[in-house]
Amino acid sequence: MPTIELIVFLIITVLTVLLFVQAVSKKLKFIRLGAKENRSDHPGKRFANFCANVLGQRKLLQEPYGVIHFFIFWGFIFIALGEIPFILERVFPNITIPILGTSPYFYLIKEILSSLVFIGLIVGIVRRWIVRPARLYLSVEAALVVILIYGVIITEWLTSGARLALMGSHHAYSLDFIYNLVAGFFAGTSAESLTTTISFLWWIHVIILYSFAVYIPNSKHLHILATPFNSYFASLKPAGGQIEPMNLEDENLKEYGVGRIENFTWKQLLDSFACGECGRCMDNCPANISGKPLNPKELLSRTLKDHLLEKGAVMNKLGISSTGEENAEALKPYTTGYSETAQILNKKLIGDIVSREEIWSCTTCMACQTLCPVSNEHVNKIIDMRRYEVMNENNYAHELQLAFRNVEAKYNPWGVSWSERASWAKDLGVQTMKEAGDQEVEYLLWVGCAGSFDDRAKKVSVAIAKILKAAGVNFAILGREEKCCGDFIRRAGNEYLFGLMVKDNINTLNNYKVKKIITACPHCLNTLKNDYPAFGGNYEVIHHTQFINDLIKSGKLTLNKNVEMPKQKIVYHDSCYLGRYQQEFEAPRALYRMVPGVELIEMDRNHNKSFCCGAGGGRMWLEEDIGERINNMRVDQALAKEPQAIGANCPYCITMLEDGIKDKTDAEHSVPVIDPAELIVKMI
Ligand code: SF4
Ligand code: SF4
Repeated sequence: MPTIELIVFLIITVLTVLLFVQAVSKKLKFIRLGAKENRSDHPGKRFANFCANVLGQRKLLQEPYGVIHFFIFWGFIFIALGEIPFILERVFPNITIPILGTSPYFYLIKEILSSLVFIGLIVGIVRRWIVRPARLYLSVEAALVVILIYGVIITEWLTSGARLALMGSHHAYSLDFIYNLVAGFFAGTSAESLTTTISFLWWIHVIILYSFAVYIPNSKHLHILATPFNSYFASLKPAGGQIEPMNLEDENLKEYGVGRIENFTWKQLLDSFACGECGRCMDNCPANISGKPLNPKELLSRTLKDHLLEKGAVMNKLGISSTGEENAEALKPYTTGYSETAQILNKKLIGDIVSREEIWSCTTCMACQTLCPVSNEHVNKIIDMRRYEVMNENNYAHELQLAFRNVEAKYNPWGVSWSERASWAKDLGVQTMKEAGDQEVEYLLWVGCAGSFDDRAKKVSVAIAKILKAAGVNFAILGREEKCCGDFIRRAGNEYLFGLMVKDNINTLNNYKVKKIITACPHCLNTLKNDYPAFGGNYEVIHHTQFINDLIKSGKLTLNKNVEMPKQKIVYHDSCYLGRYQQEFEAPRALYRMVPGVELIEMDRNHNKSFCCGAGGGRMWLEEDIGERINNMRVDQALAKEPQAIGANCPYCITMLEDGIKDKTDAEHSVPVIDPAELIVKMI
């Protein structure tokens, strides 16, 4: 390379690196405004997650066209690797990069993958700009990135093809079908013209490549850089156990939950930068689909990020890390008056930026998080904002206040007298732990508030108790000593009341030395299994559908397959807290399939893409007056399959689906909602 070219190359390279580093560090300053959170534990596990989710594209491979994503991802990696010899061998002609500059197989693989990227981008263009699914937004930024990628690929092919034509042959390029094809086009061109062409194309390539490198950290496509880190720092806890406990005894804690953007943790802020706006979350969010104001993609990629960039820029300029009470005096000159700075600093996260309707629309169904390919964590952000509203501002729906008061006074949200908790079992000969006394009890049947007080759910409790007795299981219930597990209380943001319930329940459970718990409620199951350990309650918790399966498999429960049962088509509804939260999809299905005459069918939205019933996250106790009712939508999806019954295994789901059926059908066309235990009990 001529000296003058070398100098120009070095100058623009240094400039590009500086601009890249400057843009990245600017973004890091925003992320550093977030609260502390330790996400560097278990590096081995984190690295394994990173390999599976980023290098292995695990989540995307579960989708029908995931394999295309996989190859496109690796195409980009190989294109990037190919840049090393492409640039260095021209700048330093005497060096040879091992493998990348010498192996024909490297070039063969690179070209196969580059071609897939080339075609994949065309498919992407057709989808985004012609098919235009609602979840993908049109943007100039996306178009620019596509143009830059094509620019990089095409100029590299042309330059290298021309080089091959000039050299006549090159061992490393011998299997590179694209370079050979391009070289064919240049056949007969003079060496002088080829040299000029190569030089010209090489410079065009470098300029496009460097523009791309500077553009990425300055655009929404920063997610390309943020995703690997976001995946590495993703929560290692189970989906249902990611809510951080609050230290309510900390006297320095002035605010509960998140009421200011900088109160989110740095990882929660990083999420927004990692969002690739693929829209999988919004496409599966029951709140969004039913017309509520909550759109998880919008919340992360626009609402919270834009606010962080706006407020964070002011905070960084003023050199402050918090706009809380502790800095109120120092901030007075900036927060009073009508200046732009004052207006930005005075914006309330909840109310001005995120609406209350948004944060209360979430059913905590976990669809967004489960399907997000970049490991974003949506649900905790919403719960943190609810905590602020409930514990700090005391500003939340009166229906929820009533449910909380009922729990405080009667230990259940229905407000039925706690002394009635075991009434459902009075004729069944089920003993309580207290009655068992010194006698050893292997399993506790945790009945839950619904199973104890709701007439419909009580029928499932009875069926389970009969099955356990028929199988000779050594079990007992807590009876009056059982209190609300706290699932909905915690997810509705009332950590204080949740703490009271947890403390009492753990005292009772540990007092009876409970080790194994069976429950019919996936919400209780998740809370006992995943929330309680942080408070000192460690139990083996199992859903009744899993336990009954185990009883049958181990021969402890024998089913009478000759019993006469109606022929019926049952369409199955996955509950969020058993399905997505515990990844248990098969146990309930297996039970239905054991019942003579049952044909089990699926709804279009099933397994991880199942549609919520609308009751989770405290929504069971809230009016639903915006958009369409979520339970009615789920019933529509079920009835579209023309079933004779709907299968469900969660007391909330059963209630919501039955309510939906009442809304959607007349008595003549009504279909029952059946828990599998209610069918199995008829076979014992
Ligand atoms: S948890 Fe469910 S309802 Fe809440 S934002 Fe995610 S997908 Fe929507
Ligand atoms: S699924 Fe994840 S990456 Fe895709 S839009 Fe939602 S938050 Fe962003």
